[in-house]
Amino acid sequence: MDFQLSEEHTLLQQTVEEFARNEVAPGATARDQNHEFPREIVAKMGELGLMGATVSEEFGGAGMDSLASCIVVEELSRADAAVGVILSAHLSLCIEVIQHYGTDAQKQKYLPKVAAGQCLGAYSLSEAGAGSDPASLTCRAEPDGDGWVINGTKMWVTNGREADVILVFVVTDSDDPRHRISALLVDKGTPGMTIGKLEKKLGIRSTSTAELVFENCRVPGDALLGERGHGLRAALTGLDSGRLGIAAQAVGIGQAALDAAVAYARERKQFGKPIAEFQAIQWMLADSATELEAARLLMYKGAYLKTHGGNHVKLSSMAKLYASETASRIANRAVQIHGGSGYTEDYPVERYLRDAKITEIYEGTSEIQRLVIARQLLKG
Ligand SMILES: Cc1cc2nc3c(=O)[nH]c(=O)nc-3n(C[C@H](O)[C@H](O)[C@H](O)COP(=O)(O)OP(=O)(O)OC[C@H]3O[C@@H](n4cnc5c(N)ncnc54)[C@H](O)[C@@H]3O)c2cc1C
Repeated sequence: MDFQLSEEHTLLQQTVEEFARNEVAPGATARDQNHEFPREIVAKMGELGLMGATVSEEFGGAGMDSLASCIVVEELSRADAAVGVILSAHLSLCIEVIQHYGTDAQKQKYLPKVAAGQCLGAYSLSEAGAGSDPASLTCRAEPDGDGWVINGTKMWVTNGREADVILVFVVTDSDDPRHRISALLVDKGTPGMTIGKLEKKLGIRSTSTAELVFENCRVPGDALLGERGHGLRAALTGLDSGRLGIAAQAVGIGQAALDAAVAYARERKQFGKPIAEFQAIQWMLADSATELEAARLLMYKGAYLKTHGGNHVKLSSMAKLYASETASRIANRAVQIHGGSGYTEDYPVERYLRDAKITEIYEGTSEIQRLVIARQLLKG
């Protein structure tokens, strides 16, 4: 067993860490306060090849593996968790599913542009009445000649306002309970699709989280991704890899919070000495460092199994569950270690706490991750 990252992964980590430190971290607080989407940073990530990191070399991408994309999301999230999830939702939830299920024509249409950083993806499964239970979604697409006409409203679409292509899950066959749902690729600007409400959120405030309204929105027949009626399987493929991305986002937030707590504990003096000398503070730091290491190892193992074969579904859920709850605990302790200052916008730890919370909710809440893990255990 080798606990060292390969030379290639180490180089990638150093490159992204430097980019995140110099280009992403400086404006993170301001973007969060202004709810400002990081357009320039996304463009620069495109130039660096990060937006096409896992796209195969055949289509001009970097052909990186799952561990590489976790490393990228972790380092970006350490600087700004919003940037981390913009990349993760794009690559893991949308582009990965196109790579997996797309026809040659669909891959040719999207992947070279993704690799060139000219196409941002989004994933639209959730609806007002369908969150933890996505199979109950109601947005419909009716066959219409050689195409489909979509009607309904989707919710919570990360990158929804900016995306060039959105993977939309719709009901196509309501009479067949096992094959009700299909996946459609809808391009930006398709008549009949409008951006509705943009959510005002507790954290990751510089991402867009959009409602999408479909009113007689017609897409061609070749917008169907994968087989008709097999959309739920495609949705779960995206979530299985997306959960590793969210684990990576959580580990990045946790690392940032721990770093901030260590720095503050060394510098802040009370009772004539740095607070780092008090055992109560040391124990909080020790617990945070230990839990963070465990979360990172779970994420690495999930990524390893995904690349090399094995049951990565269980590990992805374990990594997401543990890393997200760990990030919240570490960020909470970081605020505590900062005392009153931690409760203000003068220090970034309040942002880390707000950002950490979402990792326990999206791409399946902690309760749903526990259900997935238990189901895997009990099926024998
Ligand atoms: C900022 C943000 C970005 C998002 N981005 C996207 C996106 O890009 N694409 C997308 O499709 N969706 C996205 N989502 C939606 C997200 O995945 C859902 O919010 C999440 O799956 C939970 O669904 P819900 O909000 O409907 O909660 P509900 O399903 O209503 O759950 C409410 C509570 O009940 C619990 N619960 C539900 N069912 C069970 C059960 N069987 N057993 C035990 N407890 C249960 C939940 O854990 C939770 O605590 C996003 C959400 C947010 C907030």
